[in-house]
Amino acid sequence: MAGEPQADCLFCKIVAGEVPATVVRETETTVAFRDINPQAPTHVLVIPKVHYPDAASLAAADPKAAADVLRAAGEVAAEEKAESYRIVFNTGSGAGQTVFHAHAHVLGGRGLQWPPG
Ligand code: AMP
Ligand code: ZN
Repeated sequence: MAGEPQADCLFCKIVAGEVPATVVRETETTVAFRDINPQAPTHVLVIPKVHYPDAASLAAADPKAAADVLRAAGEVAAEEKAESYRIVFNTGSGAGQTVFHAHAHVLGGRGLQWPPG
């Protein structure tokens, strides 16, 4: 069923505590943890506890969870003292998405080029 945990999903396993992660923040609906391959001094992933394959499908099916991800992303940036930061939702393999459980990358702690690559 949409939104239910998927047995083959890495981030569902992190939500379930079956795969370890460096969790920096957890709310009723979200988990935030450090990216295993950081691209900036602050690189935290914020995920909804419910499983949807990407940010747009999450927002369509569960707008509150999508908003909770955005709010948590801002709270993480504030905790990390990143006064400028970027929230990225890679969507589709051509855009670099490798884990098909919606997630926000929160990147900060260095200058960020615009436009991104
Ligand atoms: P994306 O490429 O946008 O789908 O983002 C997936 C991110 O998950 C990448 O930046 C990976 O470095 C990160 N990642 C993969 N496995 C883990 C893990 N076990 N713990 C933390 N981050 C991970
Ligand atoms: Zn999942």
